[in-house]
Amino acid sequence: MRIERTVEKLRTQTELPIVWSKPGAVDDASILRAHTPELLASLKSTEDFDADTPAYPRIANYARASVGAALEAMRCARQGETVLSLMRPPGHHATRNRIMGFCYLNNIAIAALEALHGGVKRVAVIDFDVHHGNGTEDILLNREGAAYFSIHQYPAYPETGRANAGNNCFNYPVPPALPRGQYREVFSSTLDQLGKFKPELIGVSAGFDAYARDPLAQETLEAEDFYWIGKKMRTLGIPLFNVLEGGYSRDLPELVFSYLKGIEGK
Ligand SMILES: [Zn+2]
Repeated sequence: MRIERTVEKLRTQTELPIVWSKPGAVDDASILRAHTPELLASLKSTEDFDADTPAYPRIANYARASVGAALEAMRCARQGETVLSLMRPPGHHATRNRIMGFCYLNNIAIAALEALHGGVKRVAVIDFDVHHGNGTEDILLNREGAAYFSIHQYPAYPETGRANAGNNCFNYPVPPALPRGQYREVFSSTLDQLGKFKPELIGVSAGFDAYARDPLAQETLEAEDFYWIGKKMRTLGIPLFNVLEGGYSRDLPELVFSYLKGIEGK
């Protein structure tokens, strides 16, 4: 329902010209760059994966559609479009071999690896979902040409991301209830670090659960902060594709719209 209301918001607003497209089909080969064959096969399981991540009828189709949208977003970014995949389920907690935390297939990691496979030399993923993307870190760890940057509440689910990992995963944990201004400072430092990596393409794990009134976390951001984050991303001047992760408040439509205005420079 949150996504349906976000679609409605984006379809009825008049400030941004938006072109809509549907996700395409996904080859197993793309998924298997990031996940084990066992994980892919287990999507058909009728047993719940964990308390947050149930087995649903047709979840394999939904998860694959979400991957398809992330891949399409990545390709659009390479052609100079600014694009957001507005899909569920999210992906950043899904590790190479484990489905967890609402996440079945790791959309952003699969798209990042596809980009490398398709000739991109350096791809960065930045993750501003309030939770650490343990799955993305697990999949991209020490992969040549890839780097991962995450700003997230710690302590919080899944209790990872307290320190950097390997030679390419950079974590910026922030305490619960960090004032917005300080969060922005940490975000700016994260972007400085990302700039040093000199990516030619950036994937964004766009989560909106660092919002002050999100029920799943304790951060303090307002809609205008997501606008600010979007503007900061735009100033990098590097092609970027955005993939929805979390965001559980009723205000999700406003938060997504604010972010899109920021990355579009409106
Ligand atoms: Zn989250």
